Amino acid sequence: MKPASFAYHRPRSLGEALALLAEHGAEAKPLAGGQSLGPMMNMRLAQPARLIDLNAIKGLDFLNETENAVEIGALTRHQTIASSSLVRAACPLLAEAAQSIGHYAIRARGTLGGSLAHADPAAQLPLVAATLGAEIAVAGPRGERRIAAQDFFVSLMTTVLEPDELIVSVGFPKAAPREAHAFVQFSRRRGDFAMAAVAVSVLLDVQKRIQRLRLGIGGVEDKPVVPTRLIEQSEGKVPEPAALAAAAREAVSPAENPRVPAVYRRELVEVLTRRALQKCLNSN
Ligand SMILES: Cc1cc2nc3c(=O)[nH]c(=O)nc-3n(C[C@H](O)[C@H](O)[C@H](O)COP(=O)(O)OP(=O)(O)OC[C@H]3O[C@@H](n4cnc5c(N)ncnc54)[C@H](O)[C@@H]3O)c2cc1C
Repeated sequence: MKPASFAYHRPRSLGEALALLAEHGAEAKPLAGGQSLGPMMNMRLAQPARLIDLNAIKGLDFLNETENAVEIGALTRHQTIASSSLVRAACPLLAEAAQSIGHYAIRARGTLGGSLAHADPAAQLPLVAATLGAEIAVAGPRGERRIAAQDFFVSLMTTVLEPDELIVSVGFPKAAPREAHAFVQFSRRRGDFAMAAVAVSVLLDVQKRIQRLRLGIGGVEDKPVVPTRLIEQSEGKVPEPAALAAAAREAVSPAENPRVPAVYRRELVEVLTRRALQKCLNSN
């Protein structure tokens, strides 16, 4: 299938790209890796009159370490994140999740900014961003703003991003030295989008009680689920994977779907949460 015709712009700077978006508004779409927008245009699910290709803009593809975070440019490819020694050391949950995205060809082109803006509820990077409490830096005609990942995702493929704004970078909090992590997902075939995915990191205190739990569930609702009450209630307690997993099952409300019944997704959430927590405890 072929896309509908469109005008093509290749700005050389962020300012130029923002000016084009401001001029053309909702009829223009930014193009990053093209791994989601391309198929949607080919299937005519998206028919932007103009594409603003971000790939020639310098300074959007970087990995930086600050005192508390890893800052990653929006145009950074999934594969770069997955294979970065900096990300593996400072934010291993993110590296592991990025490694599990699709296939190598997808990871070699797909970008962090594109994945977050696309906001597929089953995608790995939105889930990790919400789980870890990442901050998304956005630029637009009204200046820059930083948005907490949990406030960024609204519903299925919908975010708080305005049509004239661009994601510029994302700050992921660094893991503590003894923090264990696990990213587990279930899909029908290797490389398919997950039917459910669970991201976990656990920091235990010297008495082996939970000092900090981070838990996020993807693929079951219209955006990543972070069960805040469950997380708060677990702090200071001895970790019990089976009980926490049963609570996670109750914390999600999957939509009924004739191909994947809600009860089955809940079951997946329980099993995956238990496995992820157990994996964390085994590595402690
Ligand atoms: C066969 C296949 C399998 C896949 N499997 C997976 C998978 O298992 N897990 C997964 O997470 N993804 C998967 N993907 C999608 C892939 O990860 C995409 O790369 C990602 O969803 C979008 O990134 P992109 O850079 O390609 O964005 P694009 O396709 O270029 O753009 C996606 C959307 O984001 C917008 N956008 C892009 N960059 C910005 C920006 N900086 N600021 C604002 N808006 C922006 C675009 O306008 C568009 O609306 C798969 C894709 C294919 C084709």
